[in-house]
Amino acid sequence: MKENLVEQQDKQYVWHPFTQMQGWLENQQTVICEAKGIKLTDTEGRSYYDGVSSLWVNIHGHQRREIDEAIIAQLGKVAHSTALGLANIPAAELAEQLVALAPDGLKKVFYSDDGSTAVEVALKMSFQYWRHQGQPKKEKFVALTQAYHGDTIGAVSVGGVDLFHRTFQPLLFKTMQAPSPSCYHCSQDVTTCAKQCLQEMEALLAAHHQEIAAVIVEPLVQAAAGMLMSPPGYLAAVRQLTKKYKVHLIADEVATGFGRTGKMFACEHEGVSPDFMALSKGITGGYVPLAATLTTQKIFDAFLGDMESKRTFYHGHSYTANQLACAAALGSLKIFRDDKVIAGLEKKVACVAEALRSIASLEHVGDARQRGLIVGIELMQDAKSKTPYPWGETMGARVCLKAREYGLFIRPVGDVVVFMPPLVSTETELLDMLALLRKAVVAVTEEGAVVSGGGGAHF
Ligand SMILES: *Cc1c(COP(=O)(O)O)cnc(C)c1O
Repeated sequence: MKENLVEQQDKQYVWHPFTQMQGWLENQQTVICEAKGIKLTDTEGRSYYDGVSSLWVNIHGHQRREIDEAIIAQLGKVAHSTALGLANIPAAELAEQLVALAPDGLKKVFYSDDGSTAVEVALKMSFQYWRHQGQPKKEKFVALTQAYHGDTIGAVSVGGVDLFHRTFQPLLFKTMQAPSPSCYHCSQDVTTCAKQCLQEMEALLAAHHQEIAAVIVEPLVQAAAGMLMSPPGYLAAVRQLTKKYKVHLIADEVATGFGRTGKMFACEHEGVSPDFMALSKGITGGYVPLAATLTTQKIFDAFLGDMESKRTFYHGHSYTANQLACAAALGSLKIFRDDKVIAGLEKKVACVAEALRSIASLEHVGDARQRGLIVGIELMQDAKSKTPYPWGETMGARVCLKAREYGLFIRPVGDVVVFMPPLVSTETELLDMLALLRKAVVAVTEEGAVVSGGGGAHF
């Protein structure tokens, strides 16, 4: 197939995120020109299931009438006016609704534009809070190994994905690391692992709480690390520790928020109310960028004072509280209410769990894990001995390319094939997508066996 004009323009001018551009330039690329419901259509007229919700953001499908109309109605009024010195209608309304939905105790909403900035805001607010409290030594953060909180420098500083973050080490502020309780490669059972990880977290807090501002976690699922699921009770236990040692808890719900895990927010599964909650990705239903950092009255109050008191939070972005984005978010929340989206998830989640069994039992699937409508399928050379594929075989990427041939768009994280369908997907669609995914895993991992000499002769 020959390159069309858009593909030529793209290759000449666009630098893609998280992409080795050499491979991009050498290979044929898909250009999306339309989408409706849970399907994307390309310029060649082929269509694909949006199996990763356009990178975890889409909730109710594309061209959703309610969100389209909310944006169009807002366009007829005003698209944007600054939030510096001015209020606006959809931002005020949305803040009220977010506070009503969020765990108890979160009362204030600070807007920004994407997940990374929502995290930056939480980090800076926590840091500044302790200065206002006369505890300026509390300026360090505890993050988990394998954590991902975004790509701006502050967010990278609390990140722990070596492949993405190591290069920038000299630019980062120092963070304390506690072990992630979600390792699938050791032989320990998860309960033992979680217990040890919590002991290490407690030891860290006990020794250093006077220098620690906050602990930051991705509640229940470390997403970008490869959909690593925390053992039950881990989040609630971390919350207890942060209370005991008087440090903040920042819950980064950028990936898990808005129904992904089966409840509106992942924190609800364990009755946790953090000091800060970062929201973005699903907030507008996947339409336009918007983020919110929610926090408590107590933290908000610590920033009050006259100008001389120097308690102002000096942070903000040009498009903070953008009206079109807030209108889209209001449209999305209305669909959650009108369609009883959360109540409808239980059956869908069970349906995925059932279909996943026939994938989990495949020869080269080392682990197939799920939380709500978040699925990670970990490919391995030998599932029984948990032997990974050699680096460079890019099995995850190959499975995803194969799936695309079959009409399913998905993306890997290393050798973990991620499946994160829009919440609106029906059970029939979920089963259809998982059947295509299974077919792709089988096709590629069997090819892989042939390539490496007919069944692992080299190992
Ligand atoms: C995606 C993600 C971010 C970063 O969000 P961006 O909008 O890409 O900046 C932060 N935290 C988590 C948990 C994420 O999954």
